[in-house]
Amino acid sequence: MNQGPSQPSSQGAIRPVERRKRIAIFGSTGSIGTQALDVIREHPDRFEVCILTAHSNHDLLIEQSIRFKPHTVVIVDERRYESVRDALMPHGIRVLAGVEALEEAAADDEYDMMLAAIVGFAGLKPTLRAIDNGKSIALANKETLVVAGDIVMQLAVARQVPIIPVDSEHSAIFQCLVGETRNRIEKVILTASGGPFLGRKPNYLVNIRKEHALRHPNWSMGAKISIDSATLMNKGLEMIEARWLFNIKPEQIQVVVHPQSIIHSMVQFEDGSIKAQMGLPDMKLPIQYAMAYPDRISNDFPRYDFTKSATLTFEPPDTKTFRNLALATDAMFRGGNAPAVLNAANEIAVYGFLRNKIGFLEMTDLIEKTMARIEFIPRPGLQDYFESDAAARNFAATLLDI
Ligand code: NDP
Ligand code: MG
Repeated sequence: MNQGPSQPSSQGAIRPVERRKRIAIFGSTGSIGTQALDVIREHPDRFEVCILTAHSNHDLLIEQSIRFKPHTVVIVDERRYESVRDALMPHGIRVLAGVEALEEAAADDEYDMMLAAIVGFAGLKPTLRAIDNGKSIALANKETLVVAGDIVMQLAVARQVPIIPVDSEHSAIFQCLVGETRNRIEKVILTASGGPFLGRKPNYLVNIRKEHALRHPNWSMGAKISIDSATLMNKGLEMIEARWLFNIKPEQIQVVVHPQSIIHSMVQFEDGSIKAQMGLPDMKLPIQYAMAYPDRISNDFPRYDFTKSATLTFEPPDTKTFRNLALATDAMFRGGNAPAVLNAANEIAVYGFLRNKIGFLEMTDLIEKTMARIEFIPRPGLQDYFESDAAARNFAATLLDI
């Protein structure tokens, strides 16, 4: 069978909820983190918040902590420590600071599930620590699997830890696979909205500024993933994420542009039958699904109405214009440390673009040059991934002159 450890198992009868699931939100002040708290606020009978973490947004972290009463919070930016400590100690909340504190919190016993919602490579170590600690993972941080997917999934199997995707495409695939554990996947079809510049050509893209690129037509997201969506790198990262999550081969993954974002992705089985998961684009749905799995819980989110906007269209991606998707596809087929290098270079490229240091199309050049420069390692260990990330980051930064 060609299926991965996070393949959903078939469900039995509906089970009563035994006790509230204790959630640790890593990256609680971000787009995913705040939406997860909205879901938890609506379902206080099902979920309780145990850990919250932020990088530097101390005001929001304090506000969230007073509202949701976690036992531990982490503020990564140590300059914010005193302000968070002074605000939360009177509430009996443990306050930790610094990068290592993320791992310390992930190693805590007192939670059931980590919502991995930190952005970028920074999410990898705490997520690995949570898996090693035997905690279920609701995974939004796709970079974790892009960088070290083989090692992350092996550890999850060894620790018998479920990794439930939050990324909407992967949640869709996961949902299509419920009840299909015995059946072989022929291919997965990842849908892409095409981003805000669908149909545009390089002569238009060359002048794009960050204000345009941050405006996504269908989803409201954090800055990094919004830029990744505009360049189609996001879809490239998602291909690599899918490869590891569902234990499939690169050639089993196809990307199709579907601008309406109603079909969130599809699975084609070996009899040619295709299952799709559909709904209005709202990240709260996959977040809620991952946190409540295997249950579905009711909500009052708006519903898709087939009698209103029933035109669903599909087209192949334009990888000649959006070359990031071609680079990511290459990296996926090459394997080894190539996706880790791609990811690091992309993080620096997006950083540079958001600070007006490079143009929209120059992001791709920077990634391509970095990939050509960093030594290829066919069978990397975890340390090799960390070193490849650092080497790629350093080299890419020299290209940006930072
Ligand atoms: P945001 O930028 O909105 O939020 C990121 C969160 O991570 C914030 O809490 C931020 O803290 C924290 N953070 C940032 N940098 C660091 C760091 N170096 N160390 C520790 N914490 C850090 O991102 P999103 O919520 O949009 O995305 C989170 C992840 O989910 C990404 O991997 C993204 O690809 C994925 N995802 C997001 C979707 C979306 O709709 N937003 C959809 C699918 C996947 P602070 O606020 O203090 O900076
Ligand atoms: Mg997605």
